[in-house]
Amino acid sequence: MSFTPSFLDEIKFRNELSDVIGQYVQLHRAGSNMVGLCPFHSEKTPSFVVFPTNGSFYCFGCGVGGDVVSFIMNIENLDYPGAIEFLARRCGIPMEQDEKRQDKFQVNRQRILEMNKEAAKFFHSFLYSDEGKPALDYLRNREMKETTIKHFGLGASPNSWTALSDYLTKSGFKPYELTAGFLAGAKNDRLFDYYRNRVIFPIIDLLGNVVAFGGRTMGDDKPKYINTSDTPAFKKNRNLFALNFAKVYATDSLILCEGYMDVISLHQAGFCNAVATLGTAVNAEHARIIARFTKNVLLAYDSDNAGRNATDKAIAAMTELGINVRVIELGDVKDPDDYIKKYGAAAFKKKLDGSSGRIDYSINEILKKYDLTLADDKQNAMNELTDYISTIGDKPTREIYSHRAAEILGLSTDGIAKAIEIKTKRHFKKVKSDFFDSEIRKKLGYGDNTNPERVKFSDVSTIEERILGILLIRPDLGKKVLTVLQDEDFVTAFSKKLFSAMKPYLEEGRELNISADSLFNAKEQGSISRIMASRLKLIKNDSEVLEADIKLLKEKRKEKELNKAAEDDYEKLGDYFEMLKKKKSK
Ligand SMILES: [Zn+2]
Repeated sequence: MSFTPSFLDEIKFRNELSDVIGQYVQLHRAGSNMVGLCPFHSEKTPSFVVFPTNGSFYCFGCGVGGDVVSFIMNIENLDYPGAIEFLARRCGIPMEQDEKRQDKFQVNRQRILEMNKEAAKFFHSFLYSDEGKPALDYLRNREMKETTIKHFGLGASPNSWTALSDYLTKSGFKPYELTAGFLAGAKNDRLFDYYRNRVIFPIIDLLGNVVAFGGRTMGDDKPKYINTSDTPAFKKNRNLFALNFAKVYATDSLILCEGYMDVISLHQAGFCNAVATLGTAVNAEHARIIARFTKNVLLAYDSDNAGRNATDKAIAAMTELGINVRVIELGDVKDPDDYIKKYGAAAFKKKLDGSSGRIDYSINEILKKYDLTLADDKQNAMNELTDYISTIGDKPTREIYSHRAAEILGLSTDGIAKAIEIKTKRHFKKVKSDFFDSEIRKKLGYGDNTNPERVKFSDVSTIEERILGILLIRPDLGKKVLTVLQDEDFVTAFSKKLFSAMKPYLEEGRELNISADSLFNAKEQGSISRIMASRLKLIKNDSEVLEADIKLLKEKRKEKELNKAAEDDYEKLGDYFEMLKKKKSK
């Protein structure tokens, strides 16, 4: 989907970057720039810089960067059109008419949202029809109240292959829209409904749109759940079920569960801060959304093995972003839904208050594996516990747990504490050297996914970035440059791609629209901001510097070509001698 350039300019003009970012991050002036603590990674000293002069931002800590649209995409977890819509609403300009920006080869996100809304109505009214009675009974048997069913807009799908498809096509939606929106599949040009004979949970985003559906069987059919795949209107990794309701209750904490039923049951019992991921483990993107709303998460996953694995993953992803995680242990009960049914809301509240922090949780998990009355087990438990405790960064906390471990194992505190301190030294020495290694590798350009050739052509890529950097911040110099600089002058693929994208802008002396039409992915946008940021640090950014760099690039490029030609000649010479040898031996 594309928007007209004038519309995008208007959006950017009316949403001043430092104003927009200032609503999320406390910014301080530093010369002509603004700095603050990065909202995308956990840090104590600011490495997040906003450059108001050219409307870009860059984090020197985690490499995230881009313009105002990229920022909103990242922080509000919206896709490109979603971010544009968000910014349009923010400054009160109406969205462009659909026809203007509709690409006939692409399915329109707005259409899918309209279709989803229609489908949600269809499912909801089916639930209250005669045929929907079994589904309604099913929900009532699971102790769901009428108000809860309405609040979540629950529904049911008929036991039919075409009921929804027929309804939607009659309402004017095209078959390709149904398949793109994951409501139906197509076989031999005929549509078939994905959601058949299921209870339906609509998934609503933070702007109130129905973006997807979850469908649960009422019996034992497989799969138990069907979830919408990624569509133009929905990214599974960027959405949490019920966050649209939970966000206003999230200041203290969010409760994270595994399933729709758990969340609904918790909301009904008064825990309106419960959310769930949609059939996937918690990943970095989920953690980033969560971090926007709260610093405290209570994990209430199922008490089986899969639940424990998911708990470990969630702890890792969220601790990384500085979120405090506590784990609710449900004992012999399977999940929060069952727990509330069995023991009631008051008992669950007690569980929340008594939930253990992530360190206690990990220690308990280690102890569960061993029988401490056996000497071997005790030895192994001691090793594993001291290994684990030695990785805790904070010394007083380490001491508390050293004591705790000694108590549990029935050993002397001194001995355990000594063992832990030795391991701690070793551990952090390794962490430090790993960090330096990775920093050096980063400096050399290793691990640069957007431009892997930076390592191989480090000298050339540096010059390329200097040129691109100037052109990014001084597009007024561009028009003249276009007569002497071509795509072919660039050696590395990413520089070539960037230059090629900049050309139409340079032609008009305009700044590159970094986020436009998702031409560059998030990592690439970060790289572009890095290139711009390193250029902005320099004092002189004029045509003199630019011309010198272009000359240098061309020389280097020629040198490379000559070397290449020489290498080729040499190879040919080799081939020639090989041939002679063969002739002789004949
Ligand atoms: Zn950062």
